[in-house]
Amino acid sequence: MSAHVLDGRRYAKELREALLADVRELAEHATRPGLATVVAGDSYPAHAYERRVRTLARQLGIHYVCEELPADVAEADAIAVVGKLGADPRVSGILILRPLPPQVSEAALYRALDPLKDIEAVHPVNAGLLALGRPRFVPSTPASVFHLLDRYLVESGRDPAAVYQRSNVVVVGRSANVGKPAITLGMERGATVISCDAHSYSSGLLYEHTKRADVLIVATGVAGLISAEHVKDGVIAIDVGINPVVNPNGETVRLVGDLDFSSVVTRAEAVTPVPGGVGPITDVWLLRNTVTAARRALSMAITR
Ligand code: NDP
Repeated sequence: MSAHVLDGRRYAKELREALLADVRELAEHATRPGLATVVAGDSYPAHAYERRVRTLARQLGIHYVCEELPADVAEADAIAVVGKLGADPRVSGILILRPLPPQVSEAALYRALDPLKDIEAVHPVNAGLLALGRPRFVPSTPASVFHLLDRYLVESGRDPAAVYQRSNVVVVGRSANVGKPAITLGMERGATVISCDAHSYSSGLLYEHTKRADVLIVATGVAGLISAEHVKDGVIAIDVGINPVVNPNGETVRLVGDLDFSSVVTRAEAVTPVPGGVGPITDVWLLRNTVTAARRALSMAITR
């Protein structure tokens, strides 16, 4: 058996076309959405992601600004930058890229965000609304995971709601921006959700849980953590991980996921590749949330 390999680029292209129409419609109201990113230090994945969203924003005609902060930036200065972006009328959405340098607290920076521009729902108010099932924004990565799942299920002739309600959805990784919101989105759909983390691994329980998954979502940053022997036949496996493979000179030569793709593909019903799975959808979804924020700001201005 060989799995359906889910083509994230195709879904991303569809979303991009719809988004372009939304941007044009906003332009008719003299509104241009704007995205601001904040990057501190020289993390390779953070800068690679920043470059991708910069290119996409420009292609879509979305205003874009990147605040590049030095690795030794003081926390107060980083907070001031986030505050400044909150007050900038050209900026509709703000993304704070991780990792942050150790002297800058993630929580402190997230609290400094204008909640109406917090497109990744990391401000405590937005994280709370999401957990309550009343999201202001759905963070781009878990939103993309479920978009991909929904589209695949519909295209294969199934009703996603019915599938989730009789599925074990196992989420490996519980970060604030990926794992936890994915758990919430699975619960909202009525799935039986199991959350696994590094403790599940060290206690030897991880693979007991992954073998029960009908839908497996893996977001750990551990290359090849899950292989064919850790999943059941017919699993739908979504790989969020992006792990650089480096050569002896320390240069990144390619990217791999958290799944051992070549073995999981032999057992799964469907699987996402890395690259080309969740990642391309996430990029567009971030801009989609930016456009949503701009549209809301426009309607607030009209009703004021
Ligand atoms: P974090 O480092 O914030 O979280 C990793 C999570 O994985 C933690 O909850 C950790 O558990 C868990 N974990 C670590 N090791 C194991 C293990 N051996 N077994 C089980 N669980 C483990 O990472 P992120 O959530 O931000 O990102 C995860 C991956 O997804 C990365 O590769 C990242 O690059 C990628 N990513 C991809 C995106 C995309 O669009 N495709 C977007 C965002 C991230 P604990 O909490 O117990 O420490």
